Parts: sequence; C-alpha cells; structure tokens
Amino acid sequence: MTEPHRPTTDRPSNERPPGDRVTAASHTSEMAELWRRVEQLEREQRDAEALYLSLVETVPLYVFRKDTDGKITFGNKLYCDSLSRSLDELIGLRDVELFPKKQAEKYRQDDLRVMRTGEMFHDIEEHTNADGATSYVEVFKTPVRDGAGRIVGVQGMYRDITAQKGAEAALNDSQARYNSLMESLPLSVWSKDLDGRFTFANRLFCENLDCSLEALVGKTDFDYFPDDLAEKYRADDRRVAESGAVLEDVEEFLNAEGHQSYVQVLKAPVFDAQGHVVGTQGMAWDVTARRQAEVAMERAKQAAEDANRAKSQFLANMSHEIRTPLNGVIGMTDLIMATRLTADQREHLSLVQESAESLLEVINDILDFSKIEAGKLDLDNLPFAVRDSIGDAMRLLSVRAHNKGLELAYRIPPEVPIALRGDAGRLRQVLLNLVGNAIKFTVEGEVVVVVELIEQGDDAVELQFTVRDTGIGIEPDKQQTIFEAFEQADGSTTRQYGGTGLGLAVSARLVELMGGEIGVESAPGQGSTFHFTARFGTADPSEAAVVPLDAEELRGLKVLIVDDNSTNRLILEEMVHGWEMRPQSVESGPAALAAMWTALEAHDPYRLVLCDGNMPTMDGYSLARRINDTRDFERPVVIMLTSGGMVDQGALRDELCLAACLIKPVKQSDLFDAVATAMAGDDPTRSEATVHEETEHSTTVGRRILLAEDSVVNQKLAVGLLERRGHVVRVANNGKETLELFEREPFDVILMDVQMPEMDGLEATAAIRAKEAISGRHMPIIAMTAHAMQGDRERCLAAGMDDYLAKPIRAEGLFAAIEAAVGCHEDEEAENDEARSACGNEAAACPADDSTTAGEMHDPVIDWIEALDRVGDDEELLRDVVDAFLQESPALLDNVRQAIDLDDTKTLQRAAHTLKTSFGHFGAIAAAELARELESLGSEGRTDGAAPLYGRLQERAGVVLDALKRYFDQGIKT
Ligand code: ADP
Repeated sequence: MTEPHRPTTDRPSNERPPGDRVTAASHTSEMAELWRRVEQLEREQRDAEALYLSLVETVPLYVFRKDTDGKITFGNKLYCDSLSRSLDELIGLRDVELFPKKQAEKYRQDDLRVMRTGEMFHDIEEHTNADGATSYVEVFKTPVRDGAGRIVGVQGMYRDITAQKGAEAALNDSQARYNSLMESLPLSVWSKDLDGRFTFANRLFCENLDCSLEALVGKTDFDYFPDDLAEKYRADDRRVAESGAVLEDVEEFLNAEGHQSYVQVLKAPVFDAQGHVVGTQGMAWDVTARRQAEVAMERAKQAAEDANRAKSQFLANMSHEIRTPLNGVIGMTDLIMATRLTADQREHLSLVQESAESLLEVINDILDFSKIEAGKLDLDNLPFAVRDSIGDAMRLLSVRAHNKGLELAYRIPPEVPIALRGDAGRLRQVLLNLVGNAIKFTVEGEVVVVVELIEQGDDAVELQFTVRDTGIGIEPDKQQTIFEAFEQADGSTTRQYGGTGLGLAVSARLVELMGGEIGVESAPGQGSTFHFTARFGTADPSEAAVVPLDAEELRGLKVLIVDDNSTNRLILEEMVHGWEMRPQSVESGPAALAAMWTALEAHDPYRLVLCDGNMPTMDGYSLARRINDTRDFERPVVIMLTSGGMVDQGALRDELCLAACLIKPVKQSDLFDAVATAMAGDDPTRSEATVHEETEHSTTVGRRILLAEDSVVNQKLAVGLLERRGHVVRVANNGKETLELFEREPFDVILMDVQMPEMDGLEATAAIRAKEAISGRHMPIIAMTAHAMQGDRERCLAAGMDDYLAKPIRAEGLFAAIEAAVGCHEDEEAENDEARSACGNEAAACPADDSTTAGEMHDPVIDWIEALDRVGDDEELLRDVVDAFLQESPALLDNVRQAIDLDDTKTLQRAAHTLKTSFGHFGAIAAAELARELESLGSEGRTDGAAPLYGRLQERAGVVLDALKRYFDQGIKT
C-alpha cells in the first residue's frame, strides 16, 4: 500500500489574496492566522483521507479509481492483490495493460459511459477463470468529481458473487423442479399463511376453483367455499398450525354433477428456517373410486358373511331336521330289538340300525366339515384328565376290536401331564376316527395308540399321538389324498369297508385347529401308522378333577404280568412302575407258574398277578384255576384283564377268586382302583372297578325323572329308553307344565328340551333356579337340544343348567349324564347332610326308592354254570328247557302286563311267580328278582308301582331271552 497522496494545498475560496493592504502587525497576525487555518485544513484533509482509506481497506470490496484517460490513480489492497501488483506499480497503468483486450475495452466503454452520463453503472460480469470455471462479479461504477463538481475520473468497486450466484441458481433449479412437480402431480396442492390466506396453489387446485393463481393468492377459503366448509378448513388449519402435526382426513362432498365424491386430504405445517410455523400446506386427491371399491367390498364381505351365517344356520337346521327322524328310527329300533324277535327280524333290524347309525355318522361328519370350512368351529379350552379321556375313547372301541379278535392297547407314559387344558371332545373325535379306521382296516393283529410328550413349556405342552395297526396298509400315492374330503385310498374299499372319506378330512382340520399336524406312514399289506401332534395348555389336576394315583401300600409290591402280547406287557409294566411296584412280565401261563415257583424259592413270592384272559395254550382263566388249585404257595391276588364276554360270569369269577375283571384296554385309574382295593383287603370279588364295568352293561338305580319335551316322538323314545332302564318318568309338554310338575312332585333330575312352546327350556330353568334361591336346594337339569351350533352349550349352562346333551339322544350318553348329574347332586347333598350315607357314583349304594334294590341289577344275565348244574350238566336237557322257556315266556310276560293294566293282582302274582322260577333256573337273578317283586306286589293286592317294575323286567327279560336264543340257535353261551 502506498502513502496517500498529500493533498494539493489549493487556497480555499474564502481566503484573502496576499496582496491586500494591511498593517505589518496585523499582516503578521493575519499570516499566522492563515497558516493556522491552512494547517487545520491540511489536518482535516489528512483525517478525511485516513478515514477514506480505512473505509476502503476494510470493506470486503475491490475498490479502484481511474482518471479520465483510464489510468489507475488508486486501488485498495484487495484490488492490488487481485492483480498481484503493488499500488505504486498499478498507478498510471490502463486496463488494456492489465486485462485481455476485449475485457479492457468493455471496462473502458463502461468508464466512458459513467463519465459521460455522470450516472452510476451497475453490472454483473461473467468471467471464465484460468481453470475454466465461471465466476461472477458484481460491479458498481460512479464518476469522480473535483471540488468544482467536474468529472475527473471514474471510481469503481466490485465483489465476487460466484457463490451467491451458485446458491441462487440452485434455488432456482429446485424451485423449478418443485414447480414442475407441483404442476404435474395429479394432486391439488396449496399453502396458506397463518391467517388462512392462500400463498400458493398448483394448477390443478386453481382449475378446480376456476381461478388463476394471482387471483387466489391473498384470498381465504371463505372466498371460495360455503361458510360451514370454510369453517371446517380453517379449524383444521389452526389445529395443524398449533399442533405441528400432520392431519389426514377423507372429506365427503357432492361434486358438480351431484354425485357423492371423496377426497383424501393431508395437511401439514410450513416451517421457516428457524423452525417456526409460518403457515400450512395441504394436498388432496380424489379417492372416490377407491372409496366406492371399499364400500362395494364391505358390502360383498357383509353379504358373504350373511350367506355363511345362513349356510351354517341352514346346516344346523338341516342336521336337526335329519337327526330328529333319525333319532326316532334309531331309538325305536333299539326298543324293538329289546323285544322277542325271529332271527330274520333281528337281522333285518340290525341292518336298519347299522344304516341309521352310519347315516348319522355321515351327517355328523358333514356338519363338522361344513362348520370347519365356514370357520364356525371353535375349540373348547377346558381342563380335562387326559388319561381318562383317552381311556374312555378306547373303551368305546374295545368291543369292536375284540369282536374282530384284535388286540387294542394304548400307552401314555408318565411324563405326559395328568391334567391338560383344551378340547377333550375334539381330541377324542380325532382318536376315535383314527382308531376306528385302524380297527376297520385290520383283519388280525393289534392296534396300538401311543401318546408322547414332544415339548413341555411353562403353561403349554405339545403331544404326539400315534395310532399303529397291522392292517391292509395304504398305497404310497394315496397317503396324501386320503386327508382330503371324500377321498378314500381305494374306491372299492367303500364297498368292502364302508365310510364316506370325510373322517380323515375332518380329523386333519381339527388337528390343524389344535395347532398340530397329521400324517401317515404305511406300506400295503404291512399296516399303517397315523400320527398327529396337538398343543394343549396345562391345567392343575384339581381343575380336571383328577386325583393323583399314589398309594403308599402299593410301593415295592411284587407283581407278575402275564400277557402274550408284548405291547400290553410293556404298557402294564410302565403303569405299575409308576406306582413304584416291582413288576416282572411273562408271555404265557406256564411261564407264569414257573416264575411264581422261582419267586417262592427265593422267598419273595408275587402278591399280585395281572393276567390276560385270552392267551393261547393256557388261557388266563386256566392259569387262575391252576393258581387256585396249587396249595404249595400262598395264593396271590389275581386280576383278570379280559376282552369282555366272560366278565359277566360272576360265578366263574367267584370260583376262581378273581379280585377283579377289567376290560382291555384298561384305564390306568381303573387298574389302580382295582389293585388298591384288592390289596387293601376289601372283598376281592367286589372291587369298585368291577362294579363300574358291570354297570355299563346293566341297569342303574331307578330315578324319578321329569322329561320336558314337546315332541311326541321324542317323548316316546326318551320315555321308552328311560323306563327300560328302570327310571320313573313324568312328561311335561312345555316349560309351564315343567314348572307345575317341579313344584308338585319330587324328582331326581330334569331333562329339559330347549325349544318348547309357551315357555322354553331356558326360561323354565331360570324360573326353577329362582325358586331354588329361596329353598337352597339344587335340582340337576340336563339340557337336550337338537341344535348343534357353537354357543348352545354355553347358553344352556349360562341359563343355569348342569349339563348338555345334543340330540339325537343316545342311550349311553343319556344314562351317563343322568348318573353324573344325580351322582354329583347326591355328593353335594351328602356333604351337606351327614345323615345320608355317602353314595358317590356307586349306584348299588343309592337305592332311590324302596321297591328297587340296585344290587340285583349287577348280577350276570345268565349263570351258565348254575343252569347246567340244575340239569346235571346235561347240555341236551338244558336246550330243551331253554326251548320251552323261549316258547312260554312271551305269553307269561304278556299276562303280567295285562294283569297290571286290568289291576288283576291274582294273575299278576301267578304269572310273575312262574317267570321268577323260570329265570331262577338259568341263574338270571336280576330278572328273577324283578319278577319276585311283581309277585309280592300281586300278593299284597297292589298294582301301584308295578308298571315301571314291569318295564324293567321286560327289558331284562329281553336280554335274558336273547342270550338263551343265542344258546339255543348257535350253542353260544354269553
Ligand atoms: P372313511 O373311513 O369314512 O372312508 P376316512 O377319511 O376316515 O374315511 O379315511 C379315508 C380313507 O383312508 C379310507 O377310506 C381308507 O381307504 C384309508 N384309510 C384310513 N385309515 C386307514 C388305515 N388305518 N388303514 C388303511 N387304510 C386307511
């Protein structure tokens, strides 16, 4: 930087010229004054100069001055640096010496124009730098004037605005892009300030409002929309501005053509650079088509759901309509089968019964299948005792298996929890189907069910069920398709084996609902293994009413298991191991005797023998006899495991001193009860388990039953079934009559139809429960409904009923429900009333009235040993006697019935006496006892109470006559 030029000391115009006439003294003082002023001016000029310099050197601008010839007279440091020269070097140089010619010429022209016009010049110059990049310079030029105002040069300043230019360009670019986006979007876009005035809108928005952007800006919604709408928009905008959140809405309006239209609107706040909300912006698009599609879909879904509901309702109704007459067919056939029939009639009726049963099965399968397909089948989630549940299912199928000579066994290892939570009924259904199939498709060998624990969580388990048979097997290419509806492995199997092909399809879907998978492994001729998994919750044993099987006195007990079937041996071993007994297994009678001898010699004899009744060479009964006959060792307790048939032979059981006879496959709890009772030294021939098993085949104690049912056919059927069973039934045709009878007469249980005229079953139940709230008693009520819909059961239970039976009513289910309901009721009563003796479920301990002694009912149908004994073991003679009785008994029974009808007590006494004696001949004690009771009524001159007794006699006589007929026709003693 050069020293600033010393300013010229031109005299100021107000100074006097030196040639003025003045005195010397005054001259001297004037001169001094003058000099002082000159110096002051010089000082002021220097100050101004310094000020100017400090200004031009501190501003971030390039500053220069030129004279009229274009020579540089000054340049600030920035300027000098930009030209890489010192100020001294630059002074006197022209632009042409510093810049390219064209550029220098432009500068000169600009300078000349400024000097000519005296006006300020402003320009933005574009330069291409040495590296080829473009830079921008903003230039201001003004004329330099002397003291007289004459233009003596030009001064300029400029700055580099390349960066600013770049930012501007970028902004322009983005603005252009934004604009093109806004304009091309198929959306209306707008923005408003905080007062709701439009600041921007795209073309579509303007078109919709039929105005230009210029006209729109500054206006509000109130200028374009009806007040109520504008109010809403304003309120929305305010909400967005206040909350800072995005608002989404679907607005509904009538378009210009008057059609319902919908727009989807998004509103968001607009922020400035400091993050303050300065307005709102929005976008909207037409969603009329989408909305219409949604509405159409919603309608279609609704229609489909309605249709589904209708379908499921139709199915329920249809199944009801079919089941009701079928109920009649099955029930009436049952009743007729219990009467005396010719062989042909019986055979034809069995066909009717079988056909009706299989038709019912098909209807049930179709109903289940449709319900599952319609997503209407919900599973229960209730606690259940898994061993009892599976054991009961196996028990149901045992007769079928044994009739075919098949061994049926099941194994549930100890690690499977005793109480689970889930749908026990549906699990049973799947097992019944698989095991039923296994029995159906197996000619000889065994069917074995194994349950395994796959996974145990804190409150859930996964189990695997395997059903293995030794049957005909399935071709590999059919092993998948059989799980589909109406598929069978072989079309011809339908003819040979029957079935609809729905069972596995239903099972597969049920398994899926239980969170599991189903599959099969099989080879033709080598049997099949079906397996499925299922998930269950765990439950507390007390919830599922299971008592852990544990008895101190059984621990260490030495037990011998005798069974020719290795699977059975394994299962029995596992069961008794669980009770900490010491089992040993052998596969035959002789091996058992040998083992007993060995144990005796080792001074550790067996105290219990679990023996299969049906074994080759020496069967279980022969073994038991041998054990009895041997006097050399202390007789162990013997429990016989049988396939039925022989069970009824009480005398044989007594003769062989069997502690119990249990039907295979034996339930763990039954075996435990039998063993515990036998080992506790109770009467070994009357274990609780034995009683249970017998009661399944015989009549239970007579109950007083109120049947609320409006259908005459159902009334007939139910009354028939119940009276045959020895119950006393009163019929009410509707809810009102039910209430009247309930108040008038004592009953043990009410069977309540749900749909009845006047007052339905739910109302009647509610009324009964209301009355009981005062009396504190509780009448067991069992619902009977033909509806098979989900929720029916819950409705009935919620109305205060104790149990639920789906129609058609099946004898076993009905009887079991009655006993369960009355049993529980009695349990409760017994608890409340110490005076009554404990009765539990053992029917024998609970006579319902004086005329009935249930003990008689547990005796076998016919005691063949007794019968033969009476004829001196002469089979021929026995046949003759049987023949005579078969001829005579129908008339005798008829006489009894007529005598009761006519109140003819003499005839009653006589005919009943004859019957009693005849039944006694065959050891048919139950029937004989009933005849005796009728006889004594007659002798007392009474017929009251005779009718139900006769009903029971008739039923029992039917069974006895059947057995006698089988003996007479085929020589079979059952
Ligand atoms: P259904 O037994 O009523 O015909 P399912 O769906 O229960 O219907 O069974 C379908 C088919 O699968 C049967 O018809 C049979 O061909 C085959 N099947 C099922 N279980 C077995 C089995 N244990 N052994 C051989 N074939 C079987």
